[in-house]
Amino acid sequence: MENKHLHFNTAIGVKKPENYRNKQTACPFCEREKLTGLLAVDGPIILLKNKYPVLENAYQTVLIETDDCHAELSTYSTEHLHRLIQFGIRHWLDMEQTGQYRSVLFFKNHGPLSGGTIAHPHMQIVGLNDLDYMEHVLPEMFDGILIAEDEGTALTLSTKPKVGFYEFNIWMKDDGYQPKFAEYLQTAVHYILNHFPFKATSYNVFFYHLNKRIYAKIVPRFVTTPLYIGYGLPQVPNNLNWMAEEVEKLYFKKEVV
Ligand SMILES: [Zn+2]
Repeated sequence: MENKHLHFNTAIGVKKPENYRNKQTACPFCEREKLTGLLAVDGPIILLKNKYPVLENAYQTVLIETDDCHAELSTYSTEHLHRLIQFGIRHWLDMEQTGQYRSVLFFKNHGPLSGGTIAHPHMQIVGLNDLDYMEHVLPEMFDGILIAEDEGTALTLSTKPKVGFYEFNIWMKDDGYQPKFAEYLQTAVHYILNHFPFKATSYNVFFYHLNKRIYAKIVPRFVTTPLYIGYGLPQVPNNLNWMAEEVEKLYFKKEVV
């Protein structure tokens, strides 16, 4: 029978350090000289094997984004932002191209409600041996109200969100890096953490490779709605146009002279 679930190893899970709530736990990503299993390094950016591979039938890596424990994607310099996103996408697509995995996940958790355990900015690239994440991905997940676009790159606010409420999407073609892709990503994260109508401390970024495009979905995280948990019903708020206009006004409107 085909496997549809991702299996989690609880014996490894209990050993995993957590430092969102447990402030006493030292940050394992700051002790750079003690890091093991390094796979690639570009200045302060490091890709390494995950020391706590909780997922079965998977190859888990961690991408440490910076040597600054308190930095955040929304505040990186443009130079660091491009260096990081290019590094991440390159290693993700390289892992895909090895053909060793059924599919490869690339995602980021930030904040206590994101599902992450370590506060130090990082992402994860995970090769799945027998699961195809695309089975749960529909192109309509990326339909949305256009906020900004530039040379085949766009930022939208979902009109058919996957889980519900507010989901930002960006995309670019997969045949070359578009700087606007990373800049739109940074804009969405900055908006969520600084201007969101509800106080947001947490978000996820998920990357997808489909139809010769690279997509990213940026999702502010709150307590998940019960209607989604119980019935799989994503809810669509009635103020999406307001929010799309607000983001455009804050980040993209040129001043009228
Ligand atoms: Zn740290």
